[in-house]
Amino acid sequence: MKISLRRVCNQPYDPELLWGLILVPCAIVLGAAAAVLLGDRLYCTYRRLTGFRCPGCGATHAVRHLLHGRMTEAWNANPLLVCVLLAAAVFMTYSAAVVLLRLPRIRVELTAAERRILVLVSLLGILAYWRLWMLP
Ligand SMILES: [Zn+2]
Repeated sequence: MKISLRRVCNQPYDPELLWGLILVPCAIVLGAAAAVLLGDRLYCTYRRLTGFRCPGCGATHAVRHLLHGRMTEAWNANPLLVCVLLAAAVFMTYSAAVVLLRLPRIRVELTAAERRILVLVSLLGILAYWRLWMLP
């Protein structure tokens, strides 16, 4: 793994500006608005058909708890959503810092073997989440 700092130049777009300051915040705002406006009318087809939870089950309740500052209840409703939102907050903070202060960007380069290990660890994480959260 090679971690480096690079200046943005000669790129068709600025990834931190596009993803960190525009698309991810818009997705969070739209998701929160949908959870607030449609929360009671949403249901999970997968859960109705199988009886098992999907990764999104409890997300609307988690969003509502987060909007009221109830972290424990949000975690209990959907821990994956809380983790994703925390990661998004870290990424948006990093993006704001590098874009506004014109700082070098962090770039991570992985070898093919490191990519395979990352895929394997991700799959094991999904299986662990499946076993701990989604199965009864
Ligand atoms: Zn579901």
